[in-house]
Amino acid sequence: MSQQNGQGPGEDAGVFQMARQQFNAAADKLGLDDGMRAVLGSCKREFAVNFPVRMDTGDINVFSGYRVQHNVVRGPAKGGLRFHPDVTLDEVKALAMWMTWKCAITNIPYGGGKGGVTCNPKELSMGELERLTRRFATEISPLIGTASDIPAPDVNTDGQIMAWIMDTISMHAGYTDHGIVTGKPISVGGTLGRTEATGRGVMITAREAAKRLGIMLEGARVVVQGYGNVGYWGAYLLQQMGCKIIGASDSRGAIYAEQGLDTYKLLEHKAESGSVVGYEGSEGISDAELLALPCEVLIPAALEQSITRDNAEKIDAKIIVEGANGPTTPEADAILEDQNIMVIPDILANAGGVVVSYFEWVQDIQHLFWEKDDVDNQLESIMTRSFNSVIDASEEHDTSLRTAALLVAVDRVAEAFRMRGVYP
Ligand code: NAD
Repeated sequence: MSQQNGQGPGEDAGVFQMARQQFNAAADKLGLDDGMRAVLGSCKREFAVNFPVRMDTGDINVFSGYRVQHNVVRGPAKGGLRFHPDVTLDEVKALAMWMTWKCAITNIPYGGGKGGVTCNPKELSMGELERLTRRFATEISPLIGTASDIPAPDVNTDGQIMAWIMDTISMHAGYTDHGIVTGKPISVGGTLGRTEATGRGVMITAREAAKRLGIMLEGARVVVQGYGNVGYWGAYLLQQMGCKIIGASDSRGAIYAEQGLDTYKLLEHKAESGSVVGYEGSEGISDAELLALPCEVLIPAALEQSITRDNAEKIDAKIIVEGANGPTTPEADAILEDQNIMVIPDILANAGGVVVSYFEWVQDIQHLFWEKDDVDNQLESIMTRSFNSVIDASEEHDTSLRTAALLVAVDRVAEAFRMRGVYP
């Protein structure tokens, strides 16, 4: 997946440029003036840190990390932390911008933020990972806070990492600050239903899209690129609704099974062997072959820019549900539109995670915890309402679902900015 910042001939753009290109399409339709475009098209705060971590060998390694707040006009910044070798400031800025739109589209009172550390957690021991996490949390502590900026899990970060961050910030404060991060384990102020929330949102939007297109979920073929938190839960919940999961992949390879995969057994196989590859009864295929499998629903749930001008034409799906952030480049978007493939954009399709993170934060602040059904039912109602508002906007403006989603989101953020005005 390309991460380049410049755009050469025949290349897809870098991710922040791609996010801005998408924003500009919506800004054009909304007729935003230059001042508003400049405000919404740039990131409010970009924080970069280089910090030391003592490794198990006794050596000291320096890691680079980032926390970006794109826009906080609708509320505190909200967005995950990613630990991955490809993390760059450019990527974090794009992800922060998408978070602003995601929170606006679901109408939760947050702005957009994101963060990450350039590292390979698979090469770190638990002790090293904990020291890296605690030091990074301390480094970004001038920015993050229950009322200002609330991180959450993203690629290669999980509840344990969130618990370490919560503990570190609480140690500095001298009291337990539950609301500083979401995606925490239940024992330290997490909410029921958060782990599967993004996958549940993927399932809800896939189900609503299928309903619109008259596709029966019973027996519908589903392909998942990136069998992690989002990919697994999306696949598992769609399988519960009768779908057949015929393909899956991770960073080590892809598999195909015409008869369908058992999502839970595949998860167990991945936990034991480290990959989906080699799952009993499946056939090993390339990532390109996976994306080209004929199916009703394709769920890209790995990283950015996996669907590009080079492979978009070969995609043979009815619906693409973007579990990942930014999986489709603008060039690929145009090709998919020509092919009449319905693309549920990331800022809508994977918003379930931030919605339930919001529920977690509300529970932490109130010290009052909800039943699982309350979480699932509220998520269901927010996701279907958001889905319908995007469909309505796409019909009203005769545009793709991505541009329609951005129209709804950007308009809400612009309106909040207008109401607040420019200080001083
Ligand atoms: P994860 O670390 O749990 O899973 C990522 C999966 O993608 C892993 O299985 C990994 O092996 C696989 N992968 C990595 N590179 C790949 C490649 N080149 N080809 C195929 N598979 C590859 O991460 P996650 O939390 O599931 O996040 C996945 C995507 O969803 C990211 O884009 C993330 O920003 C987005 N997202 C996550 C959440 C959330 O709540 N976790 C919410 C919204 C969006």
